[in-house]
Amino acid sequence: MRGTVQGVGFRPWVYRLARRTGVAGRVLNDAAGVTIEAFGSEPDILRFLDRLAAEPPPAAAIEQIDAEPIPPEATPDFVIVSSEATDGRRVSIPPDLATCGDCLTELSDPADRRYRYPFITCTHCGPRYTIARDVPYDRETTTMASFAMCPACREEYTSPESRRFHAEPIACPACGPSLALLDADGRPVAAPDPIEAAARALDAGLVVAVKGLGGFHLACDASSPAAVAALRARKRREQKPLAVMAADLDAAGRLALLTDDERRLLESPIRPIVLVLRRDGAGLADEVAPDNPYVGLMLPYTPLHHLLLRAVRSPLVMTSGNLSEEPLAYRNDEAVERLRGIADLFLVHDRDIATPCDDSVVRLIAGRTTLLRRSRGYVPRPVRLPAAVAHPTLGCGALLKNTFCLARGDEAWLGPHVGDLDSLATHRFFEEAIARFERFLGIRPEIVAHDLHPSYHTTRYALTRAGVTPVGVQHHHAHVAAAMAEHRLEGPVLGVAYDGTGLGTDGTAWGGELLLAWYDRFERLATFRPIPLAGGDTAIRQVWRLALALVVDAYGRDAPIGRLPLFRQVPRRDLVVVGQLLEGGVQTVPAHGVGRYFDAFGALGLGLTVSAFEGQVAMAWNHAAHPHERRRYPFDLDTTRQPWIVDLRRTTRAAVGELLAHQPASLVSARFHNTLVAATAAIVERAAAEHGRRPVVLTGGCFQNPFLAEGVRAALADRFAVHLHGEVPPGDGGIALGQVMVAQAKGSE
Ligand code: ZN
Ligand code: ZN
Ligand code: FE
Repeated sequence: MRGTVQGVGFRPWVYRLARRTGVAGRVLNDAAGVTIEAFGSEPDILRFLDRLAAEPPPAAAIEQIDAEPIPPEATPDFVIVSSEATDGRRVSIPPDLATCGDCLTELSDPADRRYRYPFITCTHCGPRYTIARDVPYDRETTTMASFAMCPACREEYTSPESRRFHAEPIACPACGPSLALLDADGRPVAAPDPIEAAARALDAGLVVAVKGLGGFHLACDASSPAAVAALRARKRREQKPLAVMAADLDAAGRLALLTDDERRLLESPIRPIVLVLRRDGAGLADEVAPDNPYVGLMLPYTPLHHLLLRAVRSPLVMTSGNLSEEPLAYRNDEAVERLRGIADLFLVHDRDIATPCDDSVVRLIAGRTTLLRRSRGYVPRPVRLPAAVAHPTLGCGALLKNTFCLARGDEAWLGPHVGDLDSLATHRFFEEAIARFERFLGIRPEIVAHDLHPSYHTTRYALTRAGVTPVGVQHHHAHVAAAMAEHRLEGPVLGVAYDGTGLGTDGTAWGGELLLAWYDRFERLATFRPIPLAGGDTAIRQVWRLALALVVDAYGRDAPIGRLPLFRQVPRRDLVVVGQLLEGGVQTVPAHGVGRYFDAFGALGLGLTVSAFEGQVAMAWNHAAHPHERRRYPFDLDTTRQPWIVDLRRTTRAAVGELLAHQPASLVSARFHNTLVAATAAIVERAAAEHGRRPVVLTGGCFQNPFLAEGVRAALADRFAVHLHGEVPPGDGGIALGQVMVAQAKGSE
């Protein structure tokens, strides 16, 4: 059996099923999954097989069952073969799982010995990856090693009939970890019930740092504007949306309009943050996600969360315990040191987190689960590759939203979310996480793939690693290869890669690319007419500079600068200076990114001068789009040049004309989106005419935008096989997998 079948109570479940159906034999973990050798009468075996497929344990996901006859054996019993006894190969560490239904029932049962015990767990749920110090995944190699089991726990742990048979983090109030409450300076506070005390503090509007599964959260009352504003100010996170934890599905349903798929995602054992449409006036402070119709919701995933959420009055903001853009705090002493001045109280415990891991973030796009951040619950689940890699390979990932990737055989493991590699702290986090992953998986990479940018930390890291072959991989080629690998495509494909930026092979910033791609090479078929960034990266933050560049490019000297509301917010002197830079081509860099077009149009349409965080204006422009508007603007496609150029100057003039005529931004935004969809369909069609009707993959951060993703897919679906991302993020968090695939293909030439 293949799939998620290790570390989820699979073997004991097979054992109990075998006993009930009267089948003898054995079950064991192997490198690929679980193998069962079953002996019995044919009807019994068939019944056993049926039930195996029909009722797996809650956190398991069976992808594949292969059955074949084997020679009979006279075994009287059914046994579980321990991992070490099989063949000495390393048994993988499973991802963390949310508290299961059975444990929740016991948690609420006054007669149970684990009543209200915040560390209740069983083989179907609880911490795994985040408590693992080493492999194989056994109690002795986890941070539970320091807790000696009491006789009652030992009895459950050793009994195959028990739901806690070999549940490595098994614990109870008599023998396991316990909670503590610390004040703002990290001094212990006497509290008979730390959860109750933390809940009262939260109700009173204070900020509490809560130790979770993969790190600390900062929590506060999500219904209180003052509490959320205080948290934002202290964390120095002024605008970026904050995640909210609701007590249960009903509470979540009061905050947001949930579809059935979204309910299913919220309740899944992975328990990611799910981006959903919030209800108006639903009792969430506006400060949670300013000017944003969506909110990131999650449900409790540890017993501690369940107890805390039941004890508080309102849903809680639960955001990563860090200062903006720093790595997550995960050790008690470190949390107190780093979150001093942010948290008023610390709700901690003495079960150490060995390997930090952020919450995952998902969203439904075009009816499928799309990962915006792939971390807790997914890591370290492997991605199966279309073909085995010849050499163990490491992909170092992108500069922003970094994850790395290790591959061996036909499997690749994306690492946890590292974040933006722009500080020493994240550099260290990145290197430590890679070292830990290599140890867990027993992989010594021979090829190390990195971005083409010479000054990225990832590149320097790859080039200074001893005894490996470094291979540079172009950013958008990596995006496309990641999508190809996820969908097990051999190539060539028509790869549409739209994002903010990535260094091209010609030294300019790419990001509006159509590539004819194989793993080992690509042809750049089309790109977007570049927007000059006046003042370089400053223009990425000060989006009015992009808007000015766009308008000047589209109109020349007759640009209606003075009539557009956006530019009235910009000091006259700045307008003149940047206008001169653009005119003279001084201190300007051409950028082909579709993301820059989103920023520029969003700035014009919504009157936003500055992007407070990466993607803010592009996201707001997406949210503004009227869902039912079908019209679009004109555009031009110049196929006389190599690569072809998508030229949006006529689009700009049409949109500006409508804005000046006071057309609502919602219509202008929808028409802009529809224009991009049509332009994309046009270049893909043209490419198919020259290079054949290849599968199409849509990748890059812009495809986190459902309007664009669904639009392009719908425009092409009747003539092409169109693939969107699923388990591998479309944004830069998925790049490392593509780097691995490309470097591997190039390296083994
Ligand atoms: Zn459980
Ligand atoms: Zn115990
Ligand atoms: Fe990218």
